[in-house]
Amino acid sequence: MLLNEKYTNGNSLAAEMVDEFCALARIDAESGREGELSNVVAAKLEDLGLEVARDDAGRRFGGETGNVIGRLPGQMGGEPILLCAHLDRVAPGCGIQPVVLGDRIVSSGDTVLAADDIVGVVAILAGMRLALAECVDLPPIEVVFTVSEENGLAGAKHMDYSAVRSKTGYVLDAARPVGTVVLRSPTHIGLEVAIHGRAAHAGINPEEGISALQIAADSLMRIPFGKVDDHTTANMGVVKGGHATNIVCEHVDLSGEVRSLDHPRALRLAEELAECFRKTAAAHGGSAEVSISIHYPGYRIDSDSQVALRVQSALSRLGRSTVFESSMGGSDANMFNSHGIESVCLGVGFEQVHSCRESVAISELVVAAGLVRQLVASEG
Ligand SMILES: [Zn+2]
Repeated sequence: MLLNEKYTNGNSLAAEMVDEFCALARIDAESGREGELSNVVAAKLEDLGLEVARDDAGRRFGGETGNVIGRLPGQMGGEPILLCAHLDRVAPGCGIQPVVLGDRIVSSGDTVLAADDIVGVVAILAGMRLALAECVDLPPIEVVFTVSEENGLAGAKHMDYSAVRSKTGYVLDAARPVGTVVLRSPTHIGLEVAIHGRAAHAGINPEEGISALQIAADSLMRIPFGKVDDHTTANMGVVKGGHATNIVCEHVDLSGEVRSLDHPRALRLAEELAECFRKTAAAHGGSAEVSISIHYPGYRIDSDSQVALRVQSALSRLGRSTVFESSMGGSDANMFNSHGIESVCLGVGFEQVHSCRESVAISELVVAAGLVRQLVASEG
């Protein structure tokens, strides 16, 4: 029997995981409000025998609590590995009532399900329980449950990296089937553009005005939108400005972003866009101030690296093939890689995330736990 079947046929395991998933999803924990949920999962890690601490990330970005960091010393010695999932979920994420429909957990329809990323949390807890129950000798394991991932990776950004020793990590947080390993993720850069024109009466002396709105429109016609090349995108997504139709618009704010799997390309493109706004504004007699900030840096992991080979081997023992992918989204793995923890993001089977149609197949939930169990221990 393939290990895959062993886990999908484990009805009591499935029932336990569904119960734990539903209980955790019901605890309100939108970004920055993870206090109660963090206490519950910290207690669960302690029950598993981990030493659990909390860092001060929450205080540093204005959240309710910090990241939960658990450590299992293990009997095997050797290099520790890090397992991560995030505790927060996007809005509308309060008052979640999970519903089991056949082989699927869905929300009641007026909130998200929080499968992103409670599936990751439950897979780590259940996978660790499996490994411990089977009395397998384990390597040192560090479990990190981050806060405010959905708020620009704030928890991982402000994490106390001196509290972890792992040099390799697995972030269970990709909206892909179990088996997907995200080896590449983009650098994500934000642009804030403030366009200044000059106000004047729109009927009496419009020639004395400079329309910031017209500068914005002219600029937006000159910059690329959408896929700029195979691994680069650009988007301006927010426009704010203007007071009245009888005033030549004096001020417009725009917000946008660029992403590229090629870090220098992302930086160059952001600077090109900024220069376009500045030049176009100057040509109209106005001005544009552009601030550029790196939301998170990209990463690229080789398919023959240790972190990739370990998960590939774990998946093959489960009877799942490995699919290496690039993503144009970010995860805590981006921050871990930038802090020297070679990390990949793993598919855990949730679907339609960030919508009220979010769901997860129970069979995928169980296989995700099997993957964690295989990742932490190669024998048993
Ligand atoms: Zn997520």
